[in-house]
Amino acid sequence: MIVCRTKQEVFSLINESNRLNQALGLVPTMGSLHRGHLSLISEALQHNDIVWVTIFVNPTQFNNKEDLTNYPKNLENDLKLIKKISNSINVFHPSETEIYDGKPFLKKYDFNRLDLELEGKFRADHFNGVATIVAKLFKLFKPSNAYFGEKDYQQTQIINRLIDLEKIDLKVIICPTIREENGLALSSRNKLLSIKNKNKSSIIYKNLVFLQKSFNKNRNKLNLEKIKSEINFVDDFKIEYLEIVNNKSLQIELKFKENESYRAFICVNVNGVRLIDNILLN
Ligand code: AMP
Repeated sequence: MIVCRTKQEVFSLINESNRLNQALGLVPTMGSLHRGHLSLISEALQHNDIVWVTIFVNPTQFNNKEDLTNYPKNLENDLKLIKKISNSINVFHPSETEIYDGKPFLKKYDFNRLDLELEGKFRADHFNGVATIVAKLFKLFKPSNAYFGEKDYQQTQIINRLIDLEKIDLKVIICPTIREENGLALSSRNKLLSIKNKNKSSIIYKNLVFLQKSFNKNRNKLNLEKIKSEINFVDDFKIEYLEIVNNKSLQIELKFKENESYRAFICVNVNGVRLIDNILLN
């Protein structure tokens, strides 16, 4: 396993794999890896000649300083977990200076309103920050395939739009959400939950599955308010949003159409830890 800290080191290794015409799979992460990240890496290993995992806590996508400071970090363990999958994976773990030359900078994109819905309403400029770093990584690595989790579905749609805007030629692969046994979607931030609240978080996925069933029974008879109050009733739990939107535009529609797909998105704030999840309804 090679761990690079500079773009220069990456360049020289990538030149070599370009020369050999190898398919490169990229898995961008912020570290503190869990089984969700590892599933992306395993998927990338199956379909590429060479896999790069990037570990970088990107400051420009945090709209909240405290969230950035508290974000869990554990490089040593991350490297151990990656090595366990395969010794042939390369890791890029740059410093902030290496990426932003000492002045973190956020590029503003026109995402056709995709960035203003759901997470965008609660995290101003979050998706511009994500796009800024991901575009930098895409330009550096020129991957054939890039791997992202369905858990951050809104993010995957932003990335799809980003590659159109930046005219980057690659395939975005969306991998299924990996969950705890109780249904809670794995997230690095789950480490910040108390055991009690982690157990109680099963209510989130349980309700998403319930919503999926209800939608397929009768999509015009859904009661989102009832689900919201059930979750808000749990001590320490506060719903930020629960919305059903068009799976492509991510916009709320006044009336569901027969031949369109819809997805439910939820964010529950548990003592300052934001738990997000989503489910495809049809
Ligand atoms: P992060 O380190 O949180 O930026 O996540 C890096 C990548 O892992 C993103 O594409 C996420 O969507 C993906 N990811 C995070 N959690 C999960 C999960 N529970 N299942 C599958 N993918 C995930």
